[in-house]
Amino acid sequence: MREGAEGAGRLQRQPFRRLNLTDSAFSGIIGQQRAIEILWTILARNKVPHALLFTGIDGIGKGTTALAFGAALNCTGERPPCGRCRSCKKIEAGSHPDIHRVTPAKTGIKVDQIRDLCGSLSMKPYEARTRVVIMEDGQTMNPEAANAFLKVLEEPPDRTVMILTALQTTDLLPTVVSRCQQVRFRPIPERVLERYLHEKKGFSEKAAMVSALLAGGSVGRAIGEKDSLRMERRGWLLSELTSLSNRPLPVLFSLAERLSKEKSDLDEVFAIIRMWLRDLLICRYNPNRIKNRDWGREVRNAAKGFSQTRLLSDMAAVNQAQKEIIANANPRMVLEGLLLQLAGCGSFPRASGKAPG
Ligand SMILES: [Zn+2]
Repeated sequence: MREGAEGAGRLQRQPFRRLNLTDSAFSGIIGQQRAIEILWTILARNKVPHALLFTGIDGIGKGTTALAFGAALNCTGERPPCGRCRSCKKIEAGSHPDIHRVTPAKTGIKVDQIRDLCGSLSMKPYEARTRVVIMEDGQTMNPEAANAFLKVLEEPPDRTVMILTALQTTDLLPTVVSRCQQVRFRPIPERVLERYLHEKKGFSEKAAMVSALLAGGSVGRAIGEKDSLRMERRGWLLSELTSLSNRPLPVLFSLAERLSKEKSDLDEVFAIIRMWLRDLLICRYNPNRIKNRDWGREVRNAAKGFSQTRLLSDMAAVNQAQKEIIANANPRMVLEGLLLQLAGCGSFPRASGKAPG
């Protein structure tokens, strides 16, 4: 990329999207066309900022893209990162001496890690044209570490690019954010993710569909969800949802108790319920757009029993229930209230408007 200044003009005239992510170990980056275009423009103009900030949810390729960008900066092949030159191979193998990765310890990134980094950065790069520092999950820096990192950004070492990754800018010191050029990574569209899981990751068609549905746009999460347990749980929950209105109260209460036991899975439970209600709402107008495609017949049948007003108020109840649980309300009691509403035998939130628990 940096084959001399005379190359810059030529590179500028080349079409975008040439950052080579298909032939190399970086081919796992999907659905980030916009971010890749921005990075390619930076490379093509040969104006690489001292610090970049990649933001977006977990598991959408921020770290992999940072590594690919570092490889492209140092690649000697024709289509960077070529994946074949000495530099690319070392970076892919994790053995390049000038690529520094800082990843959070158990309790986040610590000031000692930043101090170690400063020690390395005080020396010249060993062999890289451009040394690359990748700080992952910058939002986990404690204030001491963040201030130490800010000092590095204020006096950036020569021939060095810092790439900070984080969930969102609001989790970082504003003074850190203002010193970085931000590149946003978007959640990956469901259909793109589904095709990728099926074609490249060996998921069956159905597993790819369900995993993409539950992953919220994160390829990392989708791959983590390959286990059949999650598929089974979704199937179980959907079948419960189809028959809620016929269930006696004690069954609803025990269902609430069961769901409340795994607090870490509750976000997914809410996501499944929300998608179910969305499908009931949408199927009468546009059945081709339902998300639970493997449950199409059940969705169409169930939709007959609900008015639009009722479905909208059920959806509002789901959102309210999730908010209350985030605010530390008693999950079992919140879920009891929610299931009563979804079964058509109660209203949520309760008239008092107070969070239970
Ligand atoms: Zn290369």
